[in-house]
Amino acid sequence: MTRRLHDRHRAVLPDWLALYYKQPVEITHGEGRHVWDADGNKYLDFFGGILTTMTAHALPEVTKAVAEQAGRIIHTSTLYLNRQMVELAERIAQLSGIPDARVFFTTSGTEANDTALLLATAYRNSNQILAMRNSYHGRSFSAVGITGNHAWSPTSLSPLQTLYVHGGVRARGPYAHLSDSQFIEACVADLEDLLGHTRNVAALIAEPIQGVGGFTSPPDGLYAAFREVLDRHGILWITDEVQTGWGRTGDHFWGWQAHAQSGPPDLLTFAKGIGNGMSIGGVVARAEVMNCLDSNSISTFGGSPVTMAAGLANLTYLLEHDLQGNARRVGGLLIERLRAIGAQLPVVREVRGRGLMAGIELVRPGTDEADPEAAAAVLEAAREGGLLIGKGGGHDTSVLRIAPPLTLTVAEAEEGAAILERALRTV
Ligand code: PLP
Repeated sequence: MTRRLHDRHRAVLPDWLALYYKQPVEITHGEGRHVWDADGNKYLDFFGGILTTMTAHALPEVTKAVAEQAGRIIHTSTLYLNRQMVELAERIAQLSGIPDARVFFTTSGTEANDTALLLATAYRNSNQILAMRNSYHGRSFSAVGITGNHAWSPTSLSPLQTLYVHGGVRARGPYAHLSDSQFIEACVADLEDLLGHTRNVAALIAEPIQGVGGFTSPPDGLYAAFREVLDRHGILWITDEVQTGWGRTGDHFWGWQAHAQSGPPDLLTFAKGIGNGMSIGGVVARAEVMNCLDSNSISTFGGSPVTMAAGLANLTYLLEHDLQGNARRVGGLLIERLRAIGAQLPVVREVRGRGLMAGIELVRPGTDEADPEAAAAVLEAAREGGLLIGKGGGHDTSVLRIAPPLTLTVAEAEEGAAILERALRTV
C-alpha cells in the first residue's frame, strides 16, 4: 500500500520534495510521543513532526479545543474581531519580552520571516539585510534569498541585498580553534568590517540555534555583542525563533534569552510548535516598527479561529505543565546519555544541543570529514528499531537531529537513546 502511495507521490509532487527513508513511511496516527504507520508499525517520535508537535500527539486538550472551535466556525478572516486571536496575541506579546509589542499572525515560519523583512525594510527604508552564514529562514523568494545555507537557496536572485555574517558555525569555519570569547570578538570584528563597507542596513536576522543547519549554536552572548554594534548603526535585530521558541531549549523560553544582556530583540518570528501541528506563524515587534506600514495588509488564513484555539490550548498546557522545565531536565539527561554513547564511537564527532534540541554530528572515523552516508544509514537503522529522528539539511546532512515533543519522559528518553546507540553501532 505504502509502495503504491510512494509511486503516486513521485508522479505528482515535485522531485525536490524530499522524503526520509528508502521505503518512505506513511504516518497515519499518533498519541503522546508515539506515531503509527499504515502497516501498523509503532515508532517513538524523536522529531515531533518537524518540531511541530510541541506538547504531544493527539493531546486531548488541543484536540478538544480544535473540534469545539471547528464545530462553531472554522474561519472568519482578520477583517472581523476574533476573540481567540486577541487572546493568543495578548499572551504572546507578554511572553515575548518586547516592550509595547504587537503581534501579526501568519500561517508559516516563512511567511512570518517574510513579514519581518517587509517591516524592517519599510521601517529602515533599505533593502539590505544581514544574515548568518549557514542559516535557514524559509521558502519564499525573500526568505530563500537571505538563507545562508546555500544548498537551500535554489536561486541566487533575491529581492534583498544580503550580507552574510560569521557566527553561526564555528566547528568547520576559520574560527574553529578560538575560545568562546575570542570567537565572539572575531565575529564582532567581522560584522564591524562588513558595516564599514555598507550604508543603511535594515536588519540582522538570526536563529539563536541554527535548526536546519545542524543544531549549531554560537556561544551565549554573541548576539548581545552584535547588538551593541547594530544599535550604533540603527540596525534592527530580528530573532527567528521558529525552532527555538516556547521553551524547547530548556534554559530559556526563547533562544534570544541566552543573549539577554542585550535586552529584547526588535522583532521576533515564531511558528512550528505553537499550534502543536496547526499552521500558526507570526511576528512580534514593538508598535513603532509593526505600525510602520501605512497600507492595509492581511494574511487571509493568519489568525484563523481554529488555529488560534489550538495555539491557546497548547500554550496553556505548555505553561501549566512547565514543559520548559521538562525540556531542561529530560533533555539534559538525554544529551548526557548521547554524549556517553558518542564518546565510545569514532563515527560521532560531537553531540551538542540544549534542552530537547540535540544534534549528533557524524564523521568518517579518524577524520573531520562529514559523513552524510553514515547519517542516512543511522536514520534507516533507527527507523527499523522503532525510532524516528531527523537530519540536518543542505550542507549539514551529516548531523542527526533530535527534537521530541516536550512531554518526553525519562523512560522514553532512555528507550530512544538505546535504539539510537544500536543504530549508531551499525555504521
Ligand atoms: N525559520 C526557521 C529557523 C526554520 O527552521 C524554518 C523551517 O524549518 C522556517 C523559518 C520556515 O518555516 P515554515 O517551514 O513553517 O515556512
